[in-house]
Amino acid sequence: MEKRRIAILGSTGSIGTQALDVISQHPDLFEVELLTANNNADLLIQQALKFKPNHVVICNEDHYAKVNGALTSTDTKVFAGMKSVNDLVQSSAIDMVLASMVGFSGLEPTLNAIRGGKAIALANKETLVAAGSIVTRLAREYNTPIIPVDSEHSAIFQCLQGEYTQIEKLILTASGGPFRTWSIEDIAKATRAQALNHPNWDMGAKVTIDSASMMNKGLEMIEASWLFNVNPDDIEIVVHPQSIVHSMVQFTDGCLKAQLGAPDMRVPIQYALSYPQRVSLDTKRISFPELAHLDFYAPDSTRFPAIELAYAAHRMKGNMACIMNGANEIAVDAFLKDRILFHRIPQIIEKTMEKATFVPLPDIDDIYASHNQAKEIAMSLI
Ligand code: MG
Repeated sequence: MEKRRIAILGSTGSIGTQALDVISQHPDLFEVELLTANNNADLLIQQALKFKPNHVVICNEDHYAKVNGALTSTDTKVFAGMKSVNDLVQSSAIDMVLASMVGFSGLEPTLNAIRGGKAIALANKETLVAAGSIVTRLAREYNTPIIPVDSEHSAIFQCLQGEYTQIEKLILTASGGPFRTWSIEDIAKATRAQALNHPNWDMGAKVTIDSASMMNKGLEMIEASWLFNVNPDDIEIVVHPQSIVHSMVQFTDGCLKAQLGAPDMRVPIQYALSYPQRVSLDTKRISFPELAHLDFYAPDSTRFPAIELAYAAHRMKGNMACIMNGANEIAVDAFLKDRILFHRIPQIIEKTMEKATFVPLPDIDDIYASHNQAKEIAMSLI
């Protein structure tokens, strides 16, 4: 495998730091070309000193002087602001862009990376939820691969290697999150700390709250629908508390393929970065005698209404999933700031979906406008 030059958008987040761990284990395979971060100047400086990228961007311009000062005696050039991310992501020195920014903010740089002809390792599911038709059309136009980093989608992607026939059904597994066994009354008044305490996966705050509400699985259903061109009604969500089977594909002959492994995000991150090669990784190996059994059951849409909201939004197509996503970002942020109770998250999303302007065939400007309108409506409900 030829050495790959990687850009990491969101390098100080959970996916970004785990990607750098993978890269540090394979210095012969990967080289860091660009790192970007929103606010975490200290960690960005540390990462730049260790991985020596040619460029770093601190998005929040208030931290520019600090980052630039710390790196003046190095060969790393320091930039600030989103505009720099959007320019540098198209640099000819980059082979692959790991899109691991949080939320809707990842959309614009991902579109620019596609226009720059970069292979995309996609961790930012909101990009496909908000603008799936636009992103996938653009990737086809520029002939750029989108390789999933989300563990479920990586599992499906791995199951599809060597398959050329019709998919009958995708089965997305869900851990069920920290409230899997909780009553509807207890979920309603769950605290921030309880929601952030995910049983299996080590992830960022946004996706951990989405896991607790199960909106994460709704977002992932939409993500899978766009990535693999499968209708929402052919995507089944199954709760699997052990998080060992990462997802499955069912073919027209009734055969199922599954991908299994210990829950460790570095596995799908590394697979996306090294695809189509597999390279070694010091992750935990499965011991079947220790596992004893694996459980699977249907999700409970009464306790977790977010799943049905996602199916409804995606069936409507147009900008509805974008509206849903914008409302969710605001509701999750409000919950993390202790401004709303947990059960208000799906209520705010549903109300926003009712009130926002539906656009059947949105262009990219409609998507930005819909996202902003959804955020405003959701804020007015808080
Ligand atoms: Mg996932």
